[in-house]
Amino acid sequence: MAIREIIKYPDPLLRKKASPITEFNAELKELVADMAETMYAAPGVGLAANQIGVLLQIVVIDVSPKDDKNKLIPLINPEILEGEGSVIDEEGCLSVVDYAANVERFSQIKVCARDLEGREIEFEADGWFARVIQHEVDHLNGKLFIDHLSSLKRALYKKKRKKQLLIEEQERAENND
Ligand SMILES: [Zn+2]
Repeated sequence: MAIREIIKYPDPLLRKKASPITEFNAELKELVADMAETMYAAPGVGLAANQIGVLLQIVVIDVSPKDDKNKLIPLINPEILEGEGSVIDEEGCLSVVDYAANVERFSQIKVCARDLEGREIEFEADGWFARVIQHEVDHLNGKLFIDHLSSLKRALYKKKRKKQLLIEEQERAENND
């Protein structure tokens, strides 16, 4: 297992669509283990493969309370079949640094996916779990939570991020002197 680097906005890989998994082999299990380790180390409650620069339809989720034993849910080729209701809550993302905003999501969803052995699973989700699934499935489609915000809010974040990257660059240059 290894902790992978989480890529950050505006990395273009975050805008690419992930391809479905067709082979459920040891390589997939290793990748999922790496993703889980990366997510727990961050720490985060969900991670899509795009976020470590791998364009495959894999997400890992763990929304269990911190003092609980880790309950990792890997979803391969996940798809949201149905959604109903609407709920607004604050969201952040490991790839969208130092930012959180209210996002409207379905309150209840029906999900279809495969498990690590390639078996089809179908289930219903609600609450925070449903929100995290919608956020992660968005990633697989090249979409970020900031895409759900008003264009003004998005523009403000882009500006803030640009400034941040500029400062980072200056710091790097100074350290190299
Ligand atoms: Zn995210």
